[in-house]
Amino acid sequence: MALMTGSQYVESIRERTMEVYMFGKKIQYPTEHPILRPSLNSVKMTYDLAQLPEYQDLMTVISPETGERINRFTHIHRSTEDLIKKVKMQRLLGQKTGSCFQRCVGMDAFNAVYSTTYELDQQYHTHYFENFIKFMLHCKHLDLTVDGAMTDPKGNRSLPPHAQADPDLYLRVVERRDDGIIVRGAKAHQTGAINSHELIIMPTCSMGPEDKDYAVSFAVPVDAKGIFMVIGRQSCDTRKLENCPMDVGNVQFGGVEALVVFDDVFIPNERIFLNGETEFAGMMVERFAGYHRQSYGGCKVGVGDVLIGAAALAADYNGVSKASHIKDKLIEMTHLNETLFSCGIACSAEGCPTKSGNYLIDLLLANVCKQNITRYPYEIVRLAEDIAGGLMVTAPSEADFKDSKIGPYIEKYLKGVADIPTENRLRILRLLENLCLGTAAVGYLTESMHGAGSPQAQRIMIARQSDLSSKKDLAKNLAGID
Ligand code: SF4
Ligand code: FE
Repeated sequence: MALMTGSQYVESIRERTMEVYMFGKKIQYPTEHPILRPSLNSVKMTYDLAQLPEYQDLMTVISPETGERINRFTHIHRSTEDLIKKVKMQRLLGQKTGSCFQRCVGMDAFNAVYSTTYELDQQYHTHYFENFIKFMLHCKHLDLTVDGAMTDPKGNRSLPPHAQADPDLYLRVVERRDDGIIVRGAKAHQTGAINSHELIIMPTCSMGPEDKDYAVSFAVPVDAKGIFMVIGRQSCDTRKLENCPMDVGNVQFGGVEALVVFDDVFIPNERIFLNGETEFAGMMVERFAGYHRQSYGGCKVGVGDVLIGAAALAADYNGVSKASHIKDKLIEMTHLNETLFSCGIACSAEGCPTKSGNYLIDLLLANVCKQNITRYPYEIVRLAEDIAGGLMVTAPSEADFKDSKIGPYIEKYLKGVADIPTENRLRILRLLENLCLGTAAVGYLTESMHGAGSPQAQRIMIARQSDLSSKKDLAKNLAGID
């Protein structure tokens, strides 16, 4: 079974006995919970679209290892064409869900761990690459969703892992046994962990020799003994409990993040991909971050498409779509959004093979892509709010709209152009509210800022890759300086 259907995927997650907490309670059935279900629907879309002939070329690929048709989310990129298709697939999914669809972190972890373990084994004659290939084939064959978990809680940011007051603030090996390791710690902001079958853990930063116990990478099922997850709150999340789809804005889809705690979890040897080789921690981080910075040039652009469409509809419903300043704002939003897409495509087109043979994006361009992502969605949202008008945040609730006494007044006084039902106008404004201020703003705004590394992390990488000395030579040459 190399391709699961959407409903098989939902069933397979339902079968996992993961330990999930929210609002101080253990959630018995996370897949059925109204706050969590929209995020499962978003991942399900990565399975649903893979079943459709019109998306087969973007969503699936023939596995070079097995000859089976597999979901692109479990693929190792073999060409720049693969890298480009990845970005286009992410844009498509952003358009279909208007949310974070979560599955990319596993794909990005796959590709980073693949090439890093290959180079690690060459140096140390270890067997991490072999371990990883075995795990990867298992995931490809069963079409699993994998969470790529990198970010540690990090405590005092000015101190390295081993110097923290609490040694568990970076995930670490607490015991080495003949058959494996015991790990303790946590991974924060874990996108889609509750909708995944497996977790790939990676270190969060470059490390020195004293951080040996922290330089660890492995794979573990989400429901392994000792793992539990605490769901992060999102702005307006409890609207999903009120049974009022209009007020939710995006009626079906959402994203989710969790704090994943590892309370002394056993990892068998054959699932370990890095264990104390500190000098390879940086390579794994850099490559994973690079891939995920590329990813944003797809997914955020797809969500941007939805936002631009919603703003254009709000203008139509308000009767202002012919106003020149509105047209100009929509042009500006499109220009910003397509600039982000251009960055995602450019870093893919300029990719090159690693020693292992898989393709890595151009790291300078991927970091430029993400740096722009930390800015443009905010400007796109500003323009969307400008076009939408104040009703986006002052509109009464669905319950009022449906009330027999008050409803007709809302229908009458909140109408825009005469031939558009007030309900349509309110629905589009709620979708805009969801994307600009509500649950989806987690993915579209703050995640654009901090996901895949905060802006300063990209600036460090841009500085490293900028090759100033060759630029100085160019200038010297033209200025006639020896
Ligand atoms: Fe995928 Fe984007 Fe969500 Fe990251 S933020 S998991 S790239 S949809
Ligand atoms: Fe992300």
